[in-house]
Amino acid sequence: MSTEITDPETTVLTIGRRIRHFRAAAGMTLDDLASQVGTAPSQLSLIENGHREPRLTLLQAIAAALDVDLAALLDAEPPSRRDGLEIALDTAQRGPLYATLGLPRVRAGKRLPTEALEALVGLHAELARRSSEASATPEEARRANTELRRAMRARDNYLEEIEDAAEELLGTVGYSSGPLTHRTVEQIVSHLGFSLHHARDLPSSTRTVTDLEHGRIYLPPASLPGGHGLRSLALQAVAHRVLGHTHPGTYADFLRQRLEISYFAACVLMPRHAATEFLLAAKRNRDLAVEDLRDAFGVTHESAAHRFTNLATSQLGITVHFARVGRDGTLFKGYENDDVDFPTDVTGAIEGQTVCRHWTSRTVFDHNDLAGEFHQYTDTPSGTYWCSAQTGQGADGDFSVTLGVPFTAAKWFRGRETTSRSVSRCPDPTCCREPSADLSAKWRGAAWPSAKLHTHILGALPSGTFPGVDDAEVYAFLESHAPR
Ligand SMILES: [Zn+2]
Repeated sequence: MSTEITDPETTVLTIGRRIRHFRAAAGMTLDDLASQVGTAPSQLSLIENGHREPRLTLLQAIAAALDVDLAALLDAEPPSRRDGLEIALDTAQRGPLYATLGLPRVRAGKRLPTEALEALVGLHAELARRSSEASATPEEARRANTELRRAMRARDNYLEEIEDAAEELLGTVGYSSGPLTHRTVEQIVSHLGFSLHHARDLPSSTRTVTDLEHGRIYLPPASLPGGHGLRSLALQAVAHRVLGHTHPGTYADFLRQRLEISYFAACVLMPRHAATEFLLAAKRNRDLAVEDLRDAFGVTHESAAHRFTNLATSQLGITVHFARVGRDGTLFKGYENDDVDFPTDVTGAIEGQTVCRHWTSRTVFDHNDLAGEFHQYTDTPSGTYWCSAQTGQGADGDFSVTLGVPFTAAKWFRGRETTSRSVSRCPDPTCCREPSADLSAKWRGAAWPSAKLHTHILGALPSGTFPGVDDAEVYAFLESHAPR
């Protein structure tokens, strides 16, 4: 139970309860004390129950009559555990959180058993704890995610104030161009009053932990996770401070903060000025390539592709789309402001949906020469796009990272001369979601696939003859493996 809440009404009630406590200890009745201090017993009762604030002169008279120091009456500590519980219940029931529930107030009088009081106060404390947690149902999380993606689309995925903050900070450590070393990151972190510490025993549910009291940021061991990961993690940890974040009140706040800290880390690792200069030079030479941005700044392919979307429209005047897609076609992450038609669920969420089999994000798995980026033109109902994709392996399996632009912008990119071309008619179900009529007629009764359960977790089930199974995929497999 917390006795730290000190709103004025709680303070008045605590003083009242201390008066009552010392009066009982002195063996005095309300009448006794009232007559000694020259007030009415009813007035004293109101004071003891926290309904009236006593004037200082009266408090001094009461202290003298009870033979205690004035300070003893003004102490913020409840005089007994029972009083503490009553005060806590009173405080919780007056709070805005309880008001939203529309429930009656329970009077914490003498007749309320201490057990019931304990239970009520405990429930109030848990209610307060849960409401301050940035938690959400999967449904709420998806909606919040969708809203954030739409808000970022409206800003062309470009947050000027964070770009400015990162640039200012880079100026303080004398950065001019090229990749950011771990040493420079350390200087930035230390400029902000923090130090980096590697720990083998980080809590398994955390990426980093910051000790605000001592200005220490705990990271995984230096050998993990490799690449620019540690630099990014350290920058994300200090970003909360740089961006003035306070404890996230809602899941939407939590998501926005997550986006902002990763945006900040990207701005520091691939600074706007240096990255834009690099990209503009490449554009002049009609030689734009995500892999070059990646190599110039020593980051992962995915980070480079994502950073490209921040600068593409705002600095280069090119609309784009970005997607991270699993080998099975599941969309993990996506951004577009070039009207490419990402699949969505009924809430408008794209995460967990399956992208068209003919998109570069999926054909790359068939064509990749394992060395570099794969390029393809794709005709879709919303226009023709030129896309560049790279595959990789993550903790959740093989994935592809795709950066795409409308046909007219392909001329600025290396790989525009590709002869790979495909046609996507999605969301028309006959594009790639439904098996062809002849294969259906042949295999519908003769196929008995067994679904993998994990495909249920991220998205809606493919609407196959068997739950969780993609008929088109199964039939094509059977067709190609059937004995002739
Ligand atoms: Zn399709």
